[in-house]
Formats: sequence, C-alpha cells, structure tokens
Amino acid sequence: MFNSKTVIGTEIRHTATTGSTMDDVARLASDGAPEGLVLSADTQTSGRGRHERSWESEPGEDVLASVLFRPRAAVAGEINMLLALAIAELVEDQCDVRSSIKWPNDVRVDGAKVAGILLESAQDANGLSVVAGIGLNVNSLMRKRSPGGTQAVSMRELSDTTFDRDVLLVDLLGRIDTLYAQVRAGGTVVPAWRDRLETLGQEVEVTFTSGSGAANAISGVAEDVDASGRLIVRDENGRAWPVAAGEVTLRRDGS
Ligand code: ATP
Repeated sequence: MFNSKTVIGTEIRHTATTGSTMDDVARLASDGAPEGLVLSADTQTSGRGRHERSWESEPGEDVLASVLFRPRAAVAGEINMLLALAIAELVEDQCDVRSSIKWPNDVRVDGAKVAGILLESAQDANGLSVVAGIGLNVNSLMRKRSPGGTQAVSMRELSDTTFDRDVLLVDLLGRIDTLYAQVRAGGTVVPAWRDRLETLGQEVEVTFTSGSGAANAISGVAEDVDASGRLIVRDENGRAWPVAAGEVTLRRDGS
C-alpha cells in the first residue's frame, strides 16, 4: 500500500571502512537500488558535510550512514526536515536533554552539534533519487575536538552512557520511516520542525555560494520559515529574503 510504513531501512548494509557512504549509496542508486536502502559504516576516510567540508569521527564509535529516498518531487523538500526532526527526537529521548535544530538541519544541544545531515540529489533512469547522509556523534569524545571550529558533542557525553550503535540506528530509521510515511500521505513536518528551530529571532548572516564559488551575503534577523522550510531573513532595510536550504551557510548564530 502506498502509505504503508516500513520503507526506510528494509535493507541495511554495513561496511567496516569506506571513503564516504554518500558515494556508495549514490552508486547503488544509479544501479537501481530500491528506496529505503541504508548503508552504514564504522569508519569513513573522506566523510563530508556540505560544501565539501569534512565530517570527522572516531573509528567505530558513531552512526555514519546514508539512506536512499526516491521521493515524489512534492515530498523531496521535506526530507532534510524530517531527518533533523527524527534525530532531534532520538537524542532527546535517549539522552534526556532538550535538543534543537540550527536551520536548516544541524541537530544541537546547548549550542553544540550532535549530528549533521547532508542531502545529495540525482536524476536517474528511475527518476529522482535523494541520498541522505547522517553523521551522529554517539560514543566519540567530541567536546574537546571542535571539528572545523564547530562546537561538537556526542550522545555519550550528553548522557554518561555508551550506546549500541546498531540498536540506535534501527531506532532512528524507524522514526524516519514514520515521518516519511506521514509526509507521503500528505502530512507535513514543517510545524514540528519549526518548533525546534533555535535560529528564529537570531541575527544571521546568510552566504550564498554560486556554482563558480563567488559568495554573496545578506545580514538580518531570521524571522520565520515558510511552508516549504525556507528561512525568512529581514534585512536592515526591512526587506524579507526567503532563503532556501542547500544554497547557504549561516553565520553569527552562536555556532
Ligand atoms: P556548520 O555546521 O559549520 O554551520 P554545515 O551545516 O554546512 O555548517 P555540515 O555540512 O553539517 O555543516 O557538516 C560539516 C561541518 O561540521 C564541518 O565543517 C565541521 O565544522 C563540522 N563537523 C565535522 N565533523 C563533525 C562532528 N563529528 N560533529 C560535529 N561537527 C562536525
């Protein structure tokens, strides 16, 4: 049935070491892999975030995984939001802390990043494919590492508990599956995601990087998000700029 659950994580593959699970799943997608396929790794030698920044992790300690979605176009825009929401809820439930989302999709606790999400899309013979990468700091000791200057923290540090990564991954995939089913059935995660956004009301600088690498910036207050998750930034001239995820980097946001 179209709206049934259990699409995400019906097949979970595991590898000890790889360059990036993003590249592996993109390859599997172009070979026709089904929606919901997940590849997790103990270690990535070239884990990456947005704009080719690196994702750092201690071998064998964290959740590093990519998930293949084959969404209808109308649903694709909510994938980053539903992932952020699923991770934020997982961290909150498992660690008994309050988590928040830095727009568009970093999951943070008290200003420290506990997870990053990366989305890469392609059009292939089977239509649109979206590969979603999840880097979740589980058992690594992150507090002193500050990768790329970002304050980071792990679930272990938040809760004084070490976690079974496989159990955690299955829990997370179940949450993603539930939210994805809701969105496919015509629901939306925007209000729940919006409620967790720590960025609203803050002074932000938004940098747009064009394909050629040239950057443009606007500064203002992050006023709201619209129905498609774009951040509405009001500049000092009172002009409102809708900013889509994927094009931008936020600064002056406490990170
Ligand atoms: P930022 O989080 O710096 O605002 P971003 O949302 O574009 O930017 P991501 O694409 O999610 O960032 O991830 C890449 C960045 O995350 C790196 O540049 C580094 O600053 C930081 N980072 C790398 N590894 C980790 C980690 N294990 N935990 C937390 N942050 C990390």
